[in-house]
Amino acid sequence: MPSDGSVVISTTRMNRILEVDVERRIAWVEPGVINLELTRHLAGTGLHFAPDPSSQSACTIGGNVGTNAGGPHCLLYGVTSVHVAAVEVVLPDGDVVVLGEEEGDAVGYDLRGAFVGGEGTLGIATRIAVRLTPDPPDVRTMLLDFMTIEEAADTVSAVIAAGMVPSALELMDQQVVQAVEPFANAGYSLDAAAVLIVELDGLPAGVAQEAEAVELLALQNGARSVRVAADEEERARIWKGRKAAFGAIATIKPAYYLHDTVIPRTRLAEVISGVNAIAERHGLIGMNVFHAGDGNLHPLLVFDDREPGIMDHVYAAGEEIVRLSLEVGGVLSGEHGIGLEKRRFMPLLFSPEDLAAQRLLRDAFDPEGVSNPDKVLPDGPSCGEIQDLPEVPEGTWV
Ligand SMILES: Cc1cc2nc3c(=O)[nH]c(=O)nc-3n(C[C@H](O)[C@H](O)[C@H](O)COP(=O)(O)OP(=O)(O)OC[C@H]3O[C@@H](n4cnc5c(N)ncnc54)[C@H](O)[C@@H]3O)c2cc1C
Repeated sequence: MPSDGSVVISTTRMNRILEVDVERRIAWVEPGVINLELTRHLAGTGLHFAPDPSSQSACTIGGNVGTNAGGPHCLLYGVTSVHVAAVEVVLPDGDVVVLGEEEGDAVGYDLRGAFVGGEGTLGIATRIAVRLTPDPPDVRTMLLDFMTIEEAADTVSAVIAAGMVPSALELMDQQVVQAVEPFANAGYSLDAAAVLIVELDGLPAGVAQEAEAVELLALQNGARSVRVAADEEERARIWKGRKAAFGAIATIKPAYYLHDTVIPRTRLAEVISGVNAIAERHGLIGMNVFHAGDGNLHPLLVFDDREPGIMDHVYAAGEEIVRLSLEVGGVLSGEHGIGLEKRRFMPLLFSPEDLAAQRLLRDAFDPEGVSNPDKVLPDGPSCGEIQDLPEVPEGTWV
């Protein structure tokens, strides 16, 4: 330990896959391992790491743990917390502990569960035991297109209401499709108001039956066409378009601000139209690509950051989107977390008592307030007033 008492965890990137136990379906990894690298490393074992954020070629398992990340396939498989068996943590006072167990559930309070999604406020993960998921025996990927967002949204609700849980159920609006299709060549219809990607997996007979049911529901709800990927190459192309959607925005404007809220699935169509109206009113382009199956919206506010005063509009529109999502019974974040920017909105969702209870948990891990002190919880008495925006350095709008 250095003479000033600080703790140096490592000077390396901590990006090693330490151990893969195929028989027990557990891998120990360091937090700097890139999500997609773990899945690539597992190729041929019949196993994979299920959480697959669309940023998976760049984001780390440590970041996934920090935010309790989701991803297209988390609709069926569950978000990161479900796939973390144990985590070695350096606590804010420098102690090293392991939360959770490789096998079964740990006895007592689920501190592992509290840590995952803690956004680094409860300590730093230095090794993570992740659960590995068997590759499904059969997968069917369907591409549905619709002439209205309402029809696509109704299809999402109808599929879930029918008792099916696809492994993925993703929606892209026309603006996103038109941005991504020219270079992804995914086969999305440029004139459709919305396209849905529905993926089903499991035993072949069940998958075939569910695919028929999804097709029927989609047609009943107004789908113009239903295409099933004929082979792995076509499936990969359909997904390439979805995963490249954010990057494609650069062909429209140089910057975007990505929001992340959750709303009830049954309110999708009206909230999307509200989001687009908010964007328009602020002189921004509103685009939507999101995990529709769990109602996790990702409105993109697209703009030219060289325009004077534009960030005021971006922030104001963002706040209106948050308020709209909460008004229909939604929550502040589905998977990206609260971080710095959204902590000022926490009093819109939580009462002062709720926030005080969360503060108690945080203080139990970090009484000195040294671990990501400015994140998640608002400062002060949390009396229900939203606070000013934090200072965010220029040039951080992706
Ligand atoms: C194009 C794009 C698509 C995205 N798609 C998705 C998606 O589908 N699903 C999704 O969930 N998110 C998505 N995200 C958001 C983001 O990529 C994820 O939240 C991801 O999990 C963050 O990982 P990171 O490595 O970038 O972490 P960082 O941004 O570096 O960190 C995230 C948080 O975790 C904390 N943290 C990092 N490492 C540790 C550690 N070792 N111990 C404790 N805390 C730690 C950090 O302090 C921070 O609060 C997307 C982002 C982009 C830009």
